[in-house]
Amino acid sequence: MQDPKIHLQEVLKHIRQQAGLSLDKAAVKTGVSKAMLGQIERGESSPTVATLWKIATGFEVSLSSFLEPFPEMIKGVTIRTADEIRQQPGNEGMLVAPIFPFDERLGFEFFELTFLPDYSRVAEPHEKGVFEQISVFEGQMEILAEGVWQKLKKGQSIRFPGDQEHGYRNVESKNAVVHCLIFYPRKA
Ligand code: MN
Repeated sequence: MQDPKIHLQEVLKHIRQQAGLSLDKAAVKTGVSKAMLGQIERGESSPTVATLWKIATGFEVSLSSFLEPFPEMIKGVTIRTADEIRQQPGNEGMLVAPIFPFDERLGFEFFELTFLPDYSRVAEPHEKGVFEQISVFEGQMEILAEGVWQKLKKGQSIRFPGDQEHGYRNVESKNAVVHCLIFYPRKA
């Protein structure tokens, strides 16, 4: 696998230039500072998942596009091993394995996410029509959906609209591990 930092650096520059945006305008669009965006593009900063997700949401692209190259045409059977692709961007309290990165023919991306104890994040709304689906298979999680923090234990799943404020937190003293599917509506 390519160095995730170099991939991120290249893909951010590419996406920003495709959109025809200066760093200033990209900062306004994503809510991430111009200084930080510049540092990422120069490979001087390892942003957290929260920051990556802000950038992805601002540009209306998937999170996984920042984690690894767009998958080659996946035909037939694909096997992925989370232990080999798990990353901890920015060394913060969340690990992410892009099990099936976003593929526009299929319209979703699929992650294994690990939330360390005390992790808490409220996320900006994604583009209209985005849905998220989370299944807990280790520990417990709380998910903010439509204004309510829902408690989920191992074996429980939730699906909720991602195009409004939503959040993730682990209030337990051990890790929570979930599978997360994010569905993106087809662009007109
Ligand atoms: Mn989200």
